[in-house]
Amino acid sequence: MLVLALIAAGAFAVAAVPYLLCAALIGVLDPDVPDAPDTPDAEPEPTVSVVLPTHNEAEIIETRLRNLCALDYPTDRLEVVVVDSGTDRTAELVRAFFDRPGTPSLVMIEEESRRGVAAAVNEAVDAASGEVILRTDCDSALAPDVVRRGVRRLATPGVGGVTGTQTEFLGDSRVERDYRGLLTELQLLESRLDSVFIVHGPCFLFRRDEFEPLPTNTLADDTEIAVRIRRNGSRVLVDPAIEFSESGTSAFTERRRRKDRRARGLLDLLARHRDAIGRYGWYGRFVLPVNAWMMWISPWAAALGTVAIVLTALSVGPIGLVVPLGIAAGFALGSAERLGPLQPVYPVADSMVSLLVASYRLRESQDGTWRIDRSSREAFE
Ligand code: GDP
Ligand code: MN
Repeated sequence: MLVLALIAAGAFAVAAVPYLLCAALIGVLDPDVPDAPDTPDAEPEPTVSVVLPTHNEAEIIETRLRNLCALDYPTDRLEVVVVDSGTDRTAELVRAFFDRPGTPSLVMIEEESRRGVAAAVNEAVDAASGEVILRTDCDSALAPDVVRRGVRRLATPGVGGVTGTQTEFLGDSRVERDYRGLLTELQLLESRLDSVFIVHGPCFLFRRDEFEPLPTNTLADDTEIAVRIRRNGSRVLVDPAIEFSESGTSAFTERRRRKDRRARGLLDLLARHRDAIGRYGWYGRFVLPVNAWMMWISPWAAALGTVAIVLTALSVGPIGLVVPLGIAAGFALGSAERLGPLQPVYPVADSMVSLLVASYRLRESQDGTWRIDRSSREAFE
């Protein structure tokens, strides 16, 4: 029994290492983003191409395009590149929308078959004429000043990309909001030290000349772009003043499916870029190892610790059953957002489950496409 208890303690300690390390560094460094540099004479106004992949988004595409037209940026410096792989009326609606006067220019690419988002993004960036790319998606909305703030950041030498923070949660999910809150803290630390690892697909601006074509079967094209930018020598930052909203899913299974898929994409990405660990300054010496530890090691260590704790408890006698029941209750309450003061840490446990499922499913082959979360689209209609 003592052995089991020691294994449990050791396993949880291993799981906690990257979290404690980051918390300590955040305490010491107070990672606040510096103000965007003052631009003495004029605001930078590079040409910007908004890249929008779509797959059967007819219900929400017009809402999405109206939001893009509300961006505070000169229309003649803005272009929208839509890559559509769907079979519904999306492409038709897009064309009709841009036929109206006062809209930015449109580059419309219609794919013959569905090839996944990474292939679509490759093609869109290739066709884009802007100096800056804003990669976004359909079930999200951007604050009007996103481009202005983004290009200001990108004007800093050595900065190749910038992502924002999610401020509004359509179809509200507290778990998702808490998870994003923790992620922002991590991104701020990474920005401060070197370069951000995970970036947000709905709101990611980068300099076009930093882009390198993506492998088409990746499930995390957004973060993949960021890794390549850093490997080619530039940094990626987060700027919390760059605000976007994305539909969080209320339904449990849909939320799980989306999180499991995203986790799978990140695990796969880290594995493919493992040769970057130890290189590229703080990025390879801290940012990547911490993320890899959180994603590859912590979930398994925590699972081992949980099993050991349950076995320890059961070895005491039937009374020990309260431990597994308590853990199960904790998960049920957490996902129902009823954990009270412990609720803010629940997303860590929740994402560990996604990562476990994801690492198990990683051996399945995948072509870079996924089932689109339709319930989250309803928040837009
Ligand atoms: P999530 O935000 O990570 O849940 O991913 P989404 O399911 O919202 O997909 C991101 C964007 O890519 C959405 O605008 C989709 O319509 C679009 N999309 C998804 N799969 C494909 C695809 O295979 N081809 C193209 N062209 N677009 C896609
Ligand atoms: Mn989306």
